[in-house]
Amino acid sequence: MEPEEPSTPPDALPDVSEPDVSEPDVSDEDVVTDDDLLVIEPRVEPGRRRAATNAQAPRVGVPEPTVYPDLIHPERVDSDAVKVLRRLTRAGYSAYLVGGGVRDLLLNRQPKDFDIATSARPNEVKREFRNCRIIGRRFRLAHILFAGGKVIEVATFRKDPDQEGATFVAGEPEDDVESPSLWPAPKDRGDDADLLIRQDNTFGEPHEDAIRRDFTVNGLFYDLEAREVIDYVGGVRDLRDAVVRTIGEPDVRFREDPVRILRAIKFSARLDFGIAPDVYDAIVDVRDELSRSAPPRVLEEILRLLRGGAAQRSIYLAWDTGVLGLILPELSAHIEDEAEGAEELWTRLAVVDRMQAAGDLPSDTVLVAALLYGPLDEAVNGMRDAARAFDEFFGEMAVRLSLPRRLRDRMRLVFAAQRRLDRGLIAGLDRREIWGDVSRLFAIRCLASGRPLPPWAENAAQSAKPADRAERAPVRERKRAERGGAERDRPARGARRRR
Ligand code: ATP
Ligand code: MG
Repeated sequence: MEPEEPSTPPDALPDVSEPDVSEPDVSDEDVVTDDDLLVIEPRVEPGRRRAATNAQAPRVGVPEPTVYPDLIHPERVDSDAVKVLRRLTRAGYSAYLVGGGVRDLLLNRQPKDFDIATSARPNEVKREFRNCRIIGRRFRLAHILFAGGKVIEVATFRKDPDQEGATFVAGEPEDDVESPSLWPAPKDRGDDADLLIRQDNTFGEPHEDAIRRDFTVNGLFYDLEAREVIDYVGGVRDLRDAVVRTIGEPDVRFREDPVRILRAIKFSARLDFGIAPDVYDAIVDVRDELSRSAPPRVLEEILRLLRGGAAQRSIYLAWDTGVLGLILPELSAHIEDEAEGAEELWTRLAVVDRMQAAGDLPSDTVLVAALLYGPLDEAVNGMRDAARAFDEFFGEMAVRLSLPRRLRDRMRLVFAAQRRLDRGLIAGLDRREIWGDVSRLFAIRCLASGRPLPPWAENAAQSAKPADRAERAPVRERKRAERGGAERDRPARGARRRR
């Protein structure tokens, strides 16, 4: 995975940096200068229509987005995504860059992938591209394949089936904001109403597609031809304010799909954004619903929390919101009990984050082992039948998270090897296939605890320099001192977490 660059300070947004030097030359005229970057206000009257390929005549009942010209230079968009966008618009469809790609470009970060939303139906997309494959049964998507295994995902605009005939409420959730936007009307429901979305495959229009996305910062569209960011959801404002806010009522959006709770944590941690207070409260209120989500999705999100370069902040935030107690109660209890060595969890995760930043992300086995090492060691250490203790530790978790057997088996080997290495027994281990993971976890543990690194672990530790003092301070203390990041926009914690 590409290392993520540090996010742009919020007040500097939009910081439309010059195109990547590796990209083709751009004429001086094209380069956005610093002077252009100082304004975040839309330079087109909110609601004004665009004169571009994607533009359509205004229609009654269709809300007008806020349009921001020139926030993203087209040269910064992946060249294959550009090809797809151009081909679709030339064929008469509307097509936009959407989601994380737009968000990350606006934050001057390197997007992980470039997703496209279009008016073309999947079979129409397929007709335009030879290198296209339709995937998914219930929700059909087009994957356009490029050299080097790159995939550009093209999805037809969708809408929430319940939006049919639904009323949309114009205006923002805060009074002081002028830009028009629309929000799904709160659905009429009892508190225990079942909002879980089980089917999500109704085609729609751009504004409908925007409001069914999860967070405002993920709901932006970029029109390449017109060079405009199209904002139906107040996402540009929230990017500027560095805040994670759901599109629509947080309580409803989290009940519809509780995995969004983990996504909120991920984006807050990864982007170093605050969480809007009502969103934070809804996370706490709705967190129990996570048990209704498909276990493989929950596991995948946990892995993403670990892989995203902000594992330490992510797990801390999951703990702080009480979410960790639901997805990994073993770990949460270990932290709450202030078990011996529990503090090392945070330094292990800090080491993982440094490795990720250096482009040297450990394998999933090592990530999960670094996460669970404390409670696992507590459960197994000193037990006569270590294998059984290991199985008992993973028994319930394997069901809860649908842990693949292969991951569990590798964890077992890696963990057993740590115990041997702790006793100085290396013989034979370094010739085994698992040695890469074994030495990597050992290196992470050494760096995290300040233990001297044996020469054979130097390689595995190379991408993560020893933790400095600040990093080794307990996270809780540091957070208190910083009062930044994920804590910025939400009320004091403590009582809430234990509610
Ligand atoms: P990343 O950088 O991690 O890829 P991303 O925002 O691109 O972040 P994806 O998981 O790739 O996240 O999803 C792409 C887009 O699809 C999101 O930006 C969001 O608009 C939408 N999306 C993804 N998951 C959900 C969800 N559970 N509910 C609503 N919208 C979602
Ligand atoms: Mg993505």
